[in-house]
Amino acid sequence: MKIAMIGTGYVGLVSGVCFSDFGHDVVCVDKDPSKIERLNAGDIVIYEPGLRDIMERSVKSGRLKFTTELKDAVLDADAVFIAVGTPTRRGDGHADVSYVMAAAKEIAQIAKDYLVVVTKSTVPVGTNRKVKEVIKETRPDLEFDVVSNPEFMREGAAIEDFMKPDRVVVGVESDRAAGVMSDIYRPLYLRDFPILRTDLESAEMIKYAANAFLATKITFINEIAALCEKTGADVKKVAHGMGLDGRIGNKFLHAGPGYGGSCFPKDTKALARIGQEHAVPMQITETVIKVNEEIKRRMIEKIRDLCDGSFRNKKIAVMGVTFKPNTDDMRDAPSLTIVPALVGGGANVHVVDPQGRNEGEELLPHVEWHLDAYECVKDSDLIVILTQWNEFRALDLSRLATSMKTAKMADLRNIYNRDDVFSAGFVEYESIGR
Ligand code: NAD
Repeated sequence: MKIAMIGTGYVGLVSGVCFSDFGHDVVCVDKDPSKIERLNAGDIVIYEPGLRDIMERSVKSGRLKFTTELKDAVLDADAVFIAVGTPTRRGDGHADVSYVMAAAKEIAQIAKDYLVVVTKSTVPVGTNRKVKEVIKETRPDLEFDVVSNPEFMREGAAIEDFMKPDRVVVGVESDRAAGVMSDIYRPLYLRDFPILRTDLESAEMIKYAANAFLATKITFINEIAALCEKTGADVKKVAHGMGLDGRIGNKFLHAGPGYGGSCFPKDTKALARIGQEHAVPMQITETVIKVNEEIKRRMIEKIRDLCDGSFRNKKIAVMGVTFKPNTDDMRDAPSLTIVPALVGGGANVHVVDPQGRNEGEELLPHVEWHLDAYECVKDSDLIVILTQWNEFRALDLSRLATSMKTAKMADLRNIYNRDDVFSAGFVEYESIGR
């Protein structure tokens, strides 16, 4: 199959690279010339484990190309995927679908023959129908179908998720387009991964409902963690005991500083807006959004307590600022709320993160960046662990403690054991829900 992929962000780039690995001819398009220039020079622009190898292989085989010219990609394509951003619209919390609509219009202006336009971006229910209208208005003569194919990949494990998905959702109205989609995903059909065919609206809703549910699960355990702290229970044991119940499952039950990232915050807000628009308030999701904000604020107070009530002139070493490990993505990371509060309170903040600096430097002004955790911690009053990168999981605690001014730790990801931390020489240790 010949595929055009519009948008070379986390989703577009990974999808384009993986489709070319399936054996399809893929042309990835982005309107950002610097991205395309870097991709053509072999630089993968985002940090995603495993992506570089497959990309190099596909480019070498001639199956994967990058361009800023939509025409080069669309004219030959059997399917054009739209994988552009749908960020939260300023002011009202709605998903901004203007990039999707603009891409749809551009595709319509160029296309010649029958084409399947596939929306991979996360879009509010009803958007694919609007995409259809826009294409029809722009090119009444064009034969085309619109397909909703939401993406469920996790950053940091995106290749694995794309190649071995729990399911692929295809919202489609014609058998002809369903045929094109099944040709595209044939390698997954052959390996028995479930491909779920639905209508357009259900496909769109599945994506929002799934993300809102996962955000709810995280927030639920975070709230339970707060209660554990007051009652003497240990949230790790509680989560383990809950997760063994097959109806609940053990995933997304790790207490932490609140969810962040490019999807959960914006998708929960968008679902709440969709509910309000249809006079069916999404009360659980609305509460989750509110509680998640409170959790981040609670983290700030936890850190303040460890600083004896004031951040002023305290040297605080922050480990990890990306919203989770194995990504360089900083969008809506809890660090963006917590670190500025420390800086604003007069702390001298030092940061170490294996991949966060590129994006983080602009987003987190007035902090000092380090490459090495031990360097970062030297002479500090407090360590705050915000992201559970592997390199922070097995640090030499005694070495850390002896190099600090006062050996205190706020372990907001529960990666250390209280006894180990104290026997290494720390004088204070706070974690979540324990
Ligand atoms: P992103 O912001 O990283 O990338 C979007 C890219 O699209 C940018 O490079 C931008 O320059 C490009 N673009 C915008 N308009 C264009 C146009 N008209 N022509 C060509 N290029 C254009 O976004 P992302 O994180 O990849 O997310 C894309 C969509 O996928 C969003 O709707 C998001 O909600 C959804 N999604 C994201 C993830 C994730 O983990 N990031 C997972 C599942 C779904």
